[in-house]
Amino acid sequence: MSLIVQKYGGTSVATPERINAVADRIAATRRDDHDLVVVVSAMGHTTDELLELARGVSPDPPAREIDMLLTAGERITMALTAMALHARGIGAISLTGSQAGILTDASHGAARITEIKADRVRQGLENGKVVIVAGFQGVDPSSREITTLGRGGSDATAMALAAALGADFCEMYTDVDGVFTADPRIVSAARLLPEISFDEMLELSASGAAVLMTRSVEFGRRFSIPIHVRSSFHDRPGTWVKETTMEQAIISGIAHDNSESKVTVRGVPDRPGVAAALFEPLAERSVNVDMIVQNVGTDGSTDISFTVPRDSARHAAEVAEKVAVELGAVAVDLDENVAKVSLVGAGMKSHPGVAAGVFRALAESGINIEMISTSTIRISCVVRGDQAEAAVRALHAAFLPPMVVEEEGV
Ligand code: ADP
Ligand code: ASP
Ligand code: MG
Repeated sequence: MSLIVQKYGGTSVATPERINAVADRIAATRRDDHDLVVVVSAMGHTTDELLELARGVSPDPPAREIDMLLTAGERITMALTAMALHARGIGAISLTGSQAGILTDASHGAARITEIKADRVRQGLENGKVVIVAGFQGVDPSSREITTLGRGGSDATAMALAAALGADFCEMYTDVDGVFTADPRIVSAARLLPEISFDEMLELSASGAAVLMTRSVEFGRRFSIPIHVRSSFHDRPGTWVKETTMEQAIISGIAHDNSESKVTVRGVPDRPGVAAALFEPLAERSVNVDMIVQNVGTDGSTDISFTVPRDSARHAAEVAEKVAVELGAVAVDLDENVAKVSLVGAGMKSHPGVAAGVFRALAESGINIEMISTSTIRISCVVRGDQAEAAVRALHAAFLPPMVVEEEGV
């Protein structure tokens, strides 16, 4: 008998009606005789609403209590889903992340899964039940504290369980039809991709495509578990994320990320050891630096710019200020109105001119490029934050124009 893991995102379980629709879908999968583990997210915008509640009582809530609060969201959905299945005569048991044996490190709000002790999940399956697991949460075994995995973390729960249980594949049910060539809410001409490789999906997710959490794609790649991203609103197939694809498209998709800020240290002396003096203290304080650009020096001094996640930007700027004083730099600027736009495609490795095409397309739309970084299958540019969507549309029009279907004999 095959084992399938299904994950339902917030919109897919937003109301009792939607949970009933999900229960009908689970019932249909059961009728086909599959073993089934179901991971659920919090209903609709519950996680954001809970964060808002926290802000109403404290300007700086303890991370431990935030995790206690947020995990309640998924707990509501898991119990309601199990009830809806019972009402349909289907045996089901709901488990919190901790009960499901999802062990994590101690890092509240961004915990990493260290191990899965899936005995209780297996027991539920052996008893012929559908096992419903609350997404996005785990427990640190050393302190027995409850943790959360970071926003979008239910995707990681689903793929970690799929890996631990040796599932045949994982279905990610969401509010769009699958993975598109760009966020369909921004580019109306975006096309649904029938399939995409793990490597390309990793780059898209890491570049801001929220449709799959990056860490869930990493699990898929490491354990060779295909992911089927599809809509919970109809039965049509979506996108298969898998090892290799039939053809390597030059460009698979475009993503953007509004969650970073740019720090610039101006007028630093242009001599060996300066970059180390700046980035070592940032690393020691666990600041995650993404892109770095150092300008060509003139008159013995230069500017260094780098991007960091927005929520650690002020901290990063403070660290940079201290280093700047020690180095005799002129000033530190913090710029929060930036965004990163990325073009991803495995075929660009063997196809010259893609970078030039990116710069041309952005220039023709009057968009200035502030920083550039590349991997073998990605080109990313930092632009003004309020130009990000225009940049995505410009790149989509240039690299993924609508397909023209020619009729025979015309
Ligand atoms: P869920 O709650 O189901 O986990 P998310 O909101 O986390 O859903 O992810 C789905 C959203 O991802 C879509 O509504 C869409 O706006 C966004 N998205 C961004 N990039 C893409 C893309 N390339 N293809 C599909 N959706 C995308
Ligand atoms: N509810 C959590 C969030 O909104 C986890 C998830 O939906 O994947 O981020
Ligand atoms: Mg999500």
